[in-house]
Amino acid sequence: MLRSHTCGELRINHVGQTVTISGWVQGIRDKGSLLWIDLRDRYGITQITIETENASKDIVDIARSLGREFVISVSGKVVERYSKSDKLETGDIEINPDKITILNTAIIPPFTIEDETDGGDDLRMKYRYLDLRRNPVRKNLELRHRLAIETRNYLDKLNFLEVETPVLIKSTPEGARDFVVPSRMNPGEFYALPQSPQTFKQLLMVGGFDRYYQIVKCFRDEDLRADRQPEFTQIDCEMAFVEQEDILNTFEGLVRSLFKTVKGIDIPTLSRMTYADAMKYYGNDKPDIRFEMKFVELNNIVKGQNFKVFDDAQLVVGICAKGAAEYTRKQLDELTEFVKRPQIGATGLVYARYNSDGTIKSSVDKFYNEEELKKWAAAMNAQAGDLILILAGEENKTRKAMSELRLEMGNRLGLRDKNTFACHWIIDFPLLEFSEEVDSTSIGETGGRWHAKHHPFTSPKPEDIALLDSDPGAVRANAYDLVINGVEIGGGSIRIHDKNLQAKMFSLLGFTKEEAQAQFGFLMNAFEYGAPPHGGLAFGFDRLCSLIGGADVIRDFIAFPKNNSGRDVMINSPSPIAQAQLDELAIALKK
Ligand code: ASP
Repeated sequence: MLRSHTCGELRINHVGQTVTISGWVQGIRDKGSLLWIDLRDRYGITQITIETENASKDIVDIARSLGREFVISVSGKVVERYSKSDKLETGDIEINPDKITILNTAIIPPFTIEDETDGGDDLRMKYRYLDLRRNPVRKNLELRHRLAIETRNYLDKLNFLEVETPVLIKSTPEGARDFVVPSRMNPGEFYALPQSPQTFKQLLMVGGFDRYYQIVKCFRDEDLRADRQPEFTQIDCEMAFVEQEDILNTFEGLVRSLFKTVKGIDIPTLSRMTYADAMKYYGNDKPDIRFEMKFVELNNIVKGQNFKVFDDAQLVVGICAKGAAEYTRKQLDELTEFVKRPQIGATGLVYARYNSDGTIKSSVDKFYNEEELKKWAAAMNAQAGDLILILAGEENKTRKAMSELRLEMGNRLGLRDKNTFACHWIIDFPLLEFSEEVDSTSIGETGGRWHAKHHPFTSPKPEDIALLDSDPGAVRANAYDLVINGVEIGGGSIRIHDKNLQAKMFSLLGFTKEEAQAQFGFLMNAFEYGAPPHGGLAFGFDRLCSLIGGADVIRDFIAFPKNNSGRDVMINSPSPIAQAQLDELAIALKK
């Protein structure tokens, strides 16, 4: 071995020992008579000190020839430091070297290998192997490793088997576009990469496996955002002979155990909220419940006072920002600008300050006297010192805009602390949603159609099955999402295991019998051979890591991520392929 210890290991009790450590040169300080080298590896930094007048010429010459990021090995005696450093775990000691070996030289890195680097995102991604040497990046990947190990431990104890499912498959309907792979041996035919192992895990249940999990790569060709990658990892799970309650309890256990073992945090029992309530009180199917600030519908209270904006609105809805009555005109103008941004889309913002002296002043005083405003305050449970914010307009749009405003107020009032975790389930999602859009994920030629809100294998609530024909939009599913701090961490459902119900579902989604047979015949056939009742879920592993790691960007928790255009700028992919390869694959590119 080229080392007896790591660079993070030596302490005061090692003083007097002769050791060898290896690593990268973090920095060199040459004061003439004294020369220091900071040597770094994955575990830490150890200081090497050379008294140039007493040390051999060889050692001094080698030390003076070193540059940043050279790879060296140092043997010598551990001594107690004269001036100790509490910034380093090894800060009590240093090494007086007998021998320094240069294992490799290095050219000057394009950015500093420090916790706070001068490298921008693009540069860091291009030289990701250098970025990986930085503490924050390494710590993120260590956290990811811990979470994976703890997940496996937890599920293994419950008899879950980790089974690998194939990557070269056929389209799985998770609602995104597929990445496809041409088949050389079957010219003109393509595999699809899995958007998830959904159908395979269901087939594992038919195969009697009972409890399956996999920490697995999934691929979705979607427009990218900060929290999306074209390839990402799921903790994917399925169980047989269960009902929704069993799944929620099992995976609530997983989440709590991960927080406990990895973060040392006790998460209370997860609360549950129906989709309908989430939309009504938070305008959002993944509400951040670290703070209250629930929506209050005001139609009955504000209409009929000749204020046209409210009178014409389908919905008038307010939130009460506790303790924000002192907001300045400038702050309120900022909020108005915020809600008017095109992505938010409100036409304006009405506010009322409930001043600490008990008076209420609103931005619509012309239409509402103090007595009326007191009614608003009562409806909203506002106290002196609070600020009431109101939006009005078309129902869905207004809820959506209010949801953004609520989150913005949460940020401004410091109610969204990254180290506080509010985890809960959203249940009773609608089975279907109607969409006008047509793209390559649509079925058939027609425009608007019903889409599965989760996916087509999700079971309707038994008590709602009767509505499938008369009012499909009202059918609720046995589907659930896990939400942490306003982020959807994952979701799943109880599946349909009856062939006829599955066929009916496909037909509702616009598949002809033949199309359903061609795409999912294998699953429907399997359902003829005794499919057990089953259900499951998947958690987005990268997101879970970033959330637990207190970051917004999942990229920082992936060793080699893609950038916002889906490129790996380090290996320069995607890239063109040679004509010969195209010919072999029977692919002609459009000129
Ligand atoms: N396959 C689903 C997904 O990727 C999860 C599930 O239903 O188990 O969202």
